[in-house]
Amino acid sequence: MHNKQSFLAQTRSKEVTNKTFIQAMLDPNADFGGLYTFDNIAPFKDIKKLYSLNYADMCKEIFSQLDINLDKDMLDYALQSYNNFRSQDIAPLVNIESNLYVLELYHGPTYAFKDMALQPFSRLLDSIAKKQNKKYLILSATSGDTGPATLSGFANSSNIKAICIYPKGGTSDIQRLQMTTQDAKNLNVFGIDGDFDLAQSTLKALLKDKDFRDSVNSSGYALSVANSVNIARIAFQIAYYFIIAKELYKQNIYNFDVIVPSGNFGNALGAFFAKQLGLPITKICIASNPNDILTQFFTTGIYDIKSKKLKLSYSPAMDILKSSNIERLLFAYFGADRTRDLMQSLDTNNYFSITNNELLEIQKIFEAKSFSDNECIGGIRDSFNNGYVIDPHTSNAYLFAKYRKQCDITQTQVIISTAHFAKFARAVCKATCDLDSKTLESLNDKELLSNIISSIKNKHSKELSIDSSILELFTKQEIHTKRYDANTLKEHILSWIRL
Ligand SMILES: *Cc1c(COP(=O)(O)O)cnc(C)c1O
Repeated sequence: MHNKQSFLAQTRSKEVTNKTFIQAMLDPNADFGGLYTFDNIAPFKDIKKLYSLNYADMCKEIFSQLDINLDKDMLDYALQSYNNFRSQDIAPLVNIESNLYVLELYHGPTYAFKDMALQPFSRLLDSIAKKQNKKYLILSATSGDTGPATLSGFANSSNIKAICIYPKGGTSDIQRLQMTTQDAKNLNVFGIDGDFDLAQSTLKALLKDKDFRDSVNSSGYALSVANSVNIARIAFQIAYYFIIAKELYKQNIYNFDVIVPSGNFGNALGAFFAKQLGLPITKICIASNPNDILTQFFTTGIYDIKSKKLKLSYSPAMDILKSSNIERLLFAYFGADRTRDLMQSLDTNNYFSITNNELLEIQKIFEAKSFSDNECIGGIRDSFNNGYVIDPHTSNAYLFAKYRKQCDITQTQVIISTAHFAKFARAVCKATCDLDSKTLESLNDKELLSNIISSIKNKHSKELSIDSSILELFTKQEIHTKRYDANTLKEHILSWIRL
């Protein structure tokens, strides 16, 4: 039988790569520091056909259209991870007011959108490892959502050990508990003294450290990362946009705008690829928090981080300066030569700018706006007053949608909701509970949640309950409680994998 091998493009070179999807998944960095990506995406000839499929079958059609050739059983097994989601719809589309919908991407095991990709991704990687008869050590650094999703995905995978590095004290209680209570033997969690930047730079240093890599290899493991630039993660972030089209089509709505709360631009890139595949998305609207680098880029064409400092916000998963997936967008618009020049400028000068004509081209599809922390709290409160509770990341998108409505946009808008509100109980309680700041500070996540539930009851006479799997977290034994000095992680990791 003819076995078709299709190769991925790379963002900084016109040379055809010899890397398949699986190879790029295992080793995500392309030549010259670039990224692997899809090129020449062909639209579906009859996209409506997909609207009659279930979620897993929709994913398979999308993979096939993108020329991703995977063993059928492997892909089936990966996609079966969606059976563990709490909603049968995987990502339900909820109508919150006229012309305004929310796509809820947080019904996976760790209550944030990272599960949409990391659940199937981890199963796929485990299958590949088994087939190769190899063992992998997966490293990740997290500000709070990627870590739990990575650990949950790889728990009990036979050929994988997974490690997650996080800033101790820098996450919400629930995010911490989702990591520290993980009891699968193949997982380890390192809470470090320091912030997310230190967690990330520690991870990067380990990946570059030849002695570390050699020691990992001689212990029988290959090193890999589950970070958000991995093309496999992007591939699993396309199908949920098809749910929107499928559901709206039933209501005779044939095109729509999406509003995406963005950080590393992976979610929004999924929307862009969905549009290239022919999905009737008109505009992709990028919502930023006070770290407004993406909004600056999409409104001025200038990407300038020379004088920017990272600000800690109520939506920490969007606190970012270098938004990695912008590189793939530049490639899709302007090709490899131009992308390499722009990225080299960013690497050396912390700055790049595109021409006016290039910007106008991008603005045919993209809009962007940023919101302050105060506005973010206001958005949560406003939505709560209307009877729908959102988390602070989603609030940025909610505010953008409301703003566009005020500007007389009558197009159907879909807010992409990236986390369950319980994961960010402190900000949500601040917005919805009548408590002074001292009281608020003294409460833990469990107490904050019960205050939020009371507020909902008082305001809307509605009995909302928090899922038992969240409440159980507070009763589980915390296993990974030690605080580590980031400098010592290398030896701790090596001695753990030798066990
Ligand atoms: C990761 C994350 C985001 C940002 O997604 P990107 O793909 O990095 O743009 C937004 N909200 C939440 C809750 C997240 O976990």
